[in-house]
Amino acid sequence: MAVVRVSRARKAKEARVSDKYRSKDALRSLSGATVASVLLIDFAGLGAVAWAWLRSDTPRLHHWVLFALLTALALAHMALTRPSEERRRAVRQERALVEYVDQNGIWSAAAALVLPTTMAIALVLIVRSRRFFTARKPLGLWTSTTATVVLAVVAAGSVRDLLDAATWLGQTPVVFDTGAGLRALAVMSGAVVVYFLAEAVPIGIYRGIRWGKWSLLYTIGSRDDNKLILHTLLLGMAVALVAVVLPPPALLGMLAIAVFDTRNVGRIAALETESARHKTAAITDARTGLLNRRGFDALAAAAVDIDHANGQPTAMLEIDIDKFKGWNSRIGHPGGDKVLAAVADVLRRDTRTGDILARTGGEEMAVVLPGTDWTTALDVAERIRRSVQNLETEVVNPAGGNTLRLGHDPLPPCTISIGIAASPEQGTTITALERYADQALEVAKRNGRNQVVALAMLVPDAGDQLLCSPAPQDRAGAAGDQTAERMPVPQ
Ligand code: GH3
Ligand code: MG
Ligand code: MG
Repeated sequence: MAVVRVSRARKAKEARVSDKYRSKDALRSLSGATVASVLLIDFAGLGAVAWAWLRSDTPRLHHWVLFALLTALALAHMALTRPSEERRRAVRQERALVEYVDQNGIWSAAAALVLPTTMAIALVLIVRSRRFFTARKPLGLWTSTTATVVLAVVAAGSVRDLLDAATWLGQTPVVFDTGAGLRALAVMSGAVVVYFLAEAVPIGIYRGIRWGKWSLLYTIGSRDDNKLILHTLLLGMAVALVAVVLPPPALLGMLAIAVFDTRNVGRIAALETESARHKTAAITDARTGLLNRRGFDALAAAAVDIDHANGQPTAMLEIDIDKFKGWNSRIGHPGGDKVLAAVADVLRRDTRTGDILARTGGEEMAVVLPGTDWTTALDVAERIRRSVQNLETEVVNPAGGNTLRLGHDPLPPCTISIGIAASPEQGTTITALERYADQALEVAKRNGRNQVVALAMLVPDAGDQLLCSPAPQDRAGAAGDQTAERMPVPQ
């Protein structure tokens, strides 16, 4: 029973964790340290605004023109790419992935270089405000994300000022020579790096504190994520260059490129999700949501091998619904399907995360319990058997009228038989475990069904006997305590 208790405790913890994820944006649900990091980001953003205010150049007319143009283009870009960006963001959120620089960063990164910093901040605030009304993000989260974009813009602007490129960028017409070119290259490379870091570091620290995970993948993101960010920022640099060297209408061409690019990125994300979905579907049984034979074979074999290599036991349960043909004739095939799904739900509920659950045949299911010996497996199997017997699933009465409930007149309870084999007792391969678990299941069926039989429990000095549970007197009615009974081994 110990494992069952562990399993329940773990389930409860998971429920709490998933609740935490669900209410992830409510400030009150966050820990003190997380709130402190959020506030720190917000204040850093405010500080950056103040600093930029003090240092920023006074805008000139062509700055105002560029500001108006870049803001309009950023808003147009957002409007024209909304569906694909939303799809991409939804995928990332679903997979709890980091997202620092979204595709709209093209315009803020460009603005950071070609506009006085206060103007660039104004562009960010206008664009982000527009986003606020479409993205439906909670205010707290929106504020902090906006603060990181402001930080990035101020950081990139500072690199420009530090390298004294403002003069070059502000010149009309721009003078081209090697020195200017090299300086522009240095400014742009520096801007890309600090823009990324100014967003990634605060968010990375926040995520680390928030979820207690400090891996680079979790805080800074994967290589592919960062490649996409680099791509976005380089496009931003291209916009900056066009804004400086070409007449303003040329920026319309950059809008066309940016929209095309963002839509393609969205399309790729959609294709990747679709392909992941197909991969999952290929190894999942649609009726029960458990693994199908193909998924089970690969995972179960790996689990047994890993346990064997680590000197750990592995247990396997073969489960078969008793007299399932009878269920189909009593409540029809759709009713039978519902019973199947209900049994699958019991398996999910009564096992731990990491256990391998599959529907291996019509009304046959298999469970592999990694790192579990036969005694614990017996507890788990017995608990599953009882839970199934206690199911009160509602099914439609095929004769019409009221719905019927399993275990309530006129329907009997649904029962299952379970055969157990375990490594190392029955061998150390999945093939051996399956064969012996099947034999144990056969014994359970022959011995009257609705019981758990473990082949691992041959009792040599009792003359070829093995244990089964529950004892016959407990079998028919409500489940009594699990009692092991000795019974003859099959020929
Ligand atoms: P036993 O206790 O010996 O296992 O008896 P049983 O009737 O359960 O065994 P048998 O293997 O003879 O019959 C299994 C039945 O399961 C036959 C088939 O009609 C039914 N079945 C298989 N797959 C499905 C399914 O997806 N949905 C439904 N409703 N029935 C199914
Ligand atoms: Mg069967
Ligand atoms: Mg059956």
